[in-house]
Amino acid sequence: MELISNVPTGPIEHSWDKHKFNLKLVNPANKRKYNIIVVGSGLAGGAAAASLGELGYNVQCFCYQDSPRRAHSIAAQGGINAAKNYHNDGDSIYRLFYDTVKGGDFRAREGNVYRLAQVSANIIDQCVAQGVPFAREYGGLLDNRSFGGAQVSRTFYARGQTGQQLLLGAYQALERQVNLGTVKMHSRMDMLDLVVVDGQARGIVTRSLYDGKMEVHMGDAVILATGGYGNVFYLSTNAKGCNATAIWRAHKRGALFANPCFTQIHPTCIPVSGEYQSKLTLMSESLRNDGRIWVPKKPGDKRPPNQIPVEERDYFLERRYPSFGNLVPRDIASRAVKAVCDEGRGVGETGLGVYLDLTDAIKRLGKQKIAERYGNLLEMYERITGENPYEVPMRIYPATHYTMGGLWVDYNLMSTIPGLFVLGEANFSDHGANRLGASALMQGLADGYFIIPYTIGDYLATNQLAKVAADAPAVKQAVENATTITKKLLNGNGKRTVDSFHRELGKIVWDYCGMARNEVGLKKALSLIPALREEFWKNVRVLGANEEFNQSLEKAGRVADFFELAELMCIDALHRNESCGGHFREEYQTPEGEALRDDEHYSYVAAWGYQGEGRAPVLNKEPLTFNYVKPTQRSYK
Ligand SMILES: Cc1cc2nc3c(=O)[nH]c(=O)nc-3n(C[C@H](O)[C@H](O)[C@H](O)COP(=O)(O)OP(=O)(O)OC[C@H]3O[C@@H](n4cnc5c(N)ncnc54)[C@H](O)[C@@H]3O)c2cc1C
Repeated sequence: MELISNVPTGPIEHSWDKHKFNLKLVNPANKRKYNIIVVGSGLAGGAAAASLGELGYNVQCFCYQDSPRRAHSIAAQGGINAAKNYHNDGDSIYRLFYDTVKGGDFRAREGNVYRLAQVSANIIDQCVAQGVPFAREYGGLLDNRSFGGAQVSRTFYARGQTGQQLLLGAYQALERQVNLGTVKMHSRMDMLDLVVVDGQARGIVTRSLYDGKMEVHMGDAVILATGGYGNVFYLSTNAKGCNATAIWRAHKRGALFANPCFTQIHPTCIPVSGEYQSKLTLMSESLRNDGRIWVPKKPGDKRPPNQIPVEERDYFLERRYPSFGNLVPRDIASRAVKAVCDEGRGVGETGLGVYLDLTDAIKRLGKQKIAERYGNLLEMYERITGENPYEVPMRIYPATHYTMGGLWVDYNLMSTIPGLFVLGEANFSDHGANRLGASALMQGLADGYFIIPYTIGDYLATNQLAKVAADAPAVKQAVENATTITKKLLNGNGKRTVDSFHRELGKIVWDYCGMARNEVGLKKALSLIPALREEFWKNVRVLGANEEFNQSLEKAGRVADFFELAELMCIDALHRNESCGGHFREEYQTPEGEALRDDEHYSYVAAWGYQGEGRAPVLNKEPLTFNYVKPTQRSYK
């Protein structure tokens, strides 16, 4: 399939304006005649539903939580980037664009990234107008801090709860529309299939999580803003409910899945403490503004941190990357942490940890200032580990955090199924092979507030969308598919819990398609995953019934999809014979152990097409061209 990105030609700084002008408009009086389905009410979906409602469209918005306020976006801690240059420290739209393309290891589309940097400034204005309480400086201006991969301070924040505050803003905008009647909110509804009629996305099948009732919702366009798939690893920093079902089932209806192996392992998470654990906790990257990362110089040094003199410590990020120090991008920091632990210099009981030490910052700024900046994070750390981070250096280790891969979309955020748009973490997005910190909130809100309101209008204005009968074959078939999967899960009378399968699957993916990958391991994973999936369908035990609130059933369907997605991730990782960003193939590294790209052969987006059960997926390539930021070996030294 030829993948047409629809990025406008001409000077990049004018592309979006030119494109907006060329997009067809829907007359204000006609907007109310269109029904738009938005699945997801996190930052991307909430922003989209509110904006489309405000424009006058009829919006049906869905989420599986009891309230949009519980979307996983609420967990975002550190901040949101924007090229405002409030600090006069040299930031600009171009620099944010440059940092993002480079940070993504030259595997993102330049046109999209430039637009993202452009609209970043509007997001902050929009959120401030909504009353989002960003931190302010003494003079009253909004404060900024730094995140990895940037040498300027461009991250706006609300303590360590930026996502929560932004989501409250989007939620209020959404509720306003609910009150006005333009948006109807459907909570506790799980989208289980996409209805595609004559090649166009025309509806969804949902299962009510209260009573198991299957329903069909038809519309003129469908937007998926259903978040990332990091939970394929079982242990991740994502909320337990995060899943891939909506995008995976859309993939099985024809939407191409792009770069599935591009996943992000975040360097600063609380280390795993035992087999029983079901969740990992992030310690925001913002802590690297003031925290210094170190391990003992000597392998096996078990002395408590305060008894290790400074000269016997290795501040390995500062040593290896003097320009960026502790603020190197996540992929680089994570690999460096893994390397020192592999050398036997890791700390804590398991040896899988390094120190994130605030001592110097507390001496410099005082405990009060540090508490103001990171208080809630430090309290969370203490509650989980029982150690006081104001007194004892925190222990951190990398963990799965974000997925750069997702459904392929063009410049209009439309997937390969016409009428199916994908926003936020669910699309393959603008982050290439590695996302820079504080850029996910920016992208989700850019997609929802500032891009989809324009691009969806063009689709609606240029397509004849006939009414689809409720009993059309495509509708019946989608309902039947969702019902069959649910029944099959409940009818299995096996012996193992869903969680036990998920944990085993996650370990395979982590071991062979995690922070480091190689051909042998990926091939092994590709034999282990199908075997485990077969066992899952034979031996899984899902308790309870369909007609009740049944979280075991919900989980089972999601894990079934993770099995298939995990396989695609490994196929993708195996085919990409290079290292780039978070995709680190051990066979391809520089003498210093950095990711070694192969631009000649792999400068493309890998977009996979589903071919049916048991058949190999087909690879489609969208070539990437770089007219502005020339691909080089990334250096943060
Ligand atoms: C701990 C943590 C901290 C983070 N901190 C930051 C940060 O400081 N800065 C930053 O930029 N990024 C951060 N991120 C990343 C960022 O939070 C996410 O990428 C972003 O919030 C995703 O937003 P979203 O709207 O795409 O998806 P989500 O917020 O995950 O929302 C998904 C929505 O889709 C719905 N949904 C999903 N599947 C279905 C289905 N099948 N049927 C019905 N509804 C469905 C859900 O109910 C939900 O409403 C962090 C991530 C984590 C895990």
